[in-house]
Amino acid sequence: MEDKVIVDGLTFVPYITRDRIQEQVCRIAGELRRDLAGKSPVFLCVLNGAFIFAADLIRETGINDATICFVKYTSYEGMSSSGRIKEIIGLGEDIEGRDVVIIEDIVDTGLTAKYMIDDLRRRKPASIRFATLLHKPESTKTGFQPDYVAFSIPPKFIIGYGLDLDGKMRNLRDIYVVEEPVCADKR
Ligand code: 5GP
Repeated sequence: MEDKVIVDGLTFVPYITRDRIQEQVCRIAGELRRDLAGKSPVFLCVLNGAFIFAADLIRETGINDATICFVKYTSYEGMSSSGRIKEIIGLGEDIEGRDVVIIEDIVDTGLTAKYMIDDLRRRKPASIRFATLLHKPESTKTGFQPDYVAFSIPPKFIIGYGLDLDGKMRNLRDIYVVEEPVCADKR
C-alpha cells in the first residue's frame, strides 16, 4: 500500500487495506450464497465504480448460473453529488420474475439507489437485493438502507478499488481517503 497518493493536487491517505476488503467480500458472498440458495439470480453491476467489487464478489459467490448485467448512471461531479441522476446505460435484460442483486460501489445520498430500485420495480422482478462496498449513512437524503454493506464510513471522499477522482485511480488495490486540511491554530 502506498503511504499517500496525490491526484489533481489532492492528497489521499490509506484507509482500507486490500486484506480487509477481501474479508468483507467473502462475508457478503457467503450471505448471498445462503440467501439465494436454489435461485438463478441476476447480478446487476453499476458501472463504472462497482466493476472491481462486482467481479470479486460474483466470483466469490460461486453461483455459476447467474446472469450478469451492467447499468450506468451519473450523479457525481468532481467530489460531490449533483443531486441529478442521469441514465447512461440502461438494462436490456428481462428481469420479470427474477431475483435481482444490485452491486454498487458506494451509497452516498442514496438518490442513485432509490432511482434504480423504483425503475427495477416497474419491471416486476421476484425480489431486489442491494449490495454495496461502502455506505455513508450520514450523507443520506433518502433514508435508503442497503441489504449488504461491506463498510460503513463517515461522509469523506474516497478513491481506489474501482472508485475514482474524475476517472482516475480506479486501479488502486486499496482504498484511500482524502486528507483533511490541517486547520490553523486560532489562539
Ligand atoms: P449517491 O446517488 O448515493 O449520492 O451517489 C452514488 C455515486 O456517487 C456512487 O456510485 C459514486 O459513483 C459516487 N460517489 C459517492 N461518494 C463517493 C466517494 O467518496 N468517492 C467516489 N469516488 N465516488 C463517490
